[in-house]
Amino acid sequence: MPQRSVLPDPFKFAAEGRSLSGAIPLADLPRLGDVLLDKSGSVQFSLVGEVGLDRKPRMRLAISGELQVRCQRCLGSMIWPLDVDALFELVRPGQPIADDELEEDEFDAIEATPDMDVTALVEDEIVLAVPIAPRHEKCEAPRPDGGAVKESPFASLEKLRKTDGAE
Ligand SMILES: [Zn+2]
Repeated sequence: MPQRSVLPDPFKFAAEGRSLSGAIPLADLPRLGDVLLDKSGSVQFSLVGEVGLDRKPRMRLAISGELQVRCQRCLGSMIWPLDVDALFELVRPGQPIADDELEEDEFDAIEATPDMDVTALVEDEIVLAVPIAPRHEKCEAPRPDGGAVKESPFASLEKLRKTDGAE
């Protein structure tokens, strides 16, 4: 059972301006599973509690690391640099969120419950940050005769011949 980062009392964490940081192995973030080519690394996070000038409890979450994902154009692997910086406002479960706060783009309101799961929060933010179809800045789609995009009957034959030769 992997050890998860948990905040026993998020409101106290914010009120006292505490901070928590650590590394989370990518293997502990199952919702990223299909996106990653390599799950052997980890991401670093830091969570800092604060009270705003308006006396509202907030938390700033920063996540950094490198993810190995598949380029959707050339289908090669690429490194996606992760750089998340999110600010949350803590609300108690059931507490209504004022309309003007919903319109505020600067931060998201989250329901903070005792034993808040920081690993899940980190996972949520990474899922939001990773592009659906990552692409290298400059690369080319594989040529059709490379077999990756469109296989010609000839290419299939070529493959068969190679298989025969190997076995
Ligand atoms: Zn590419």
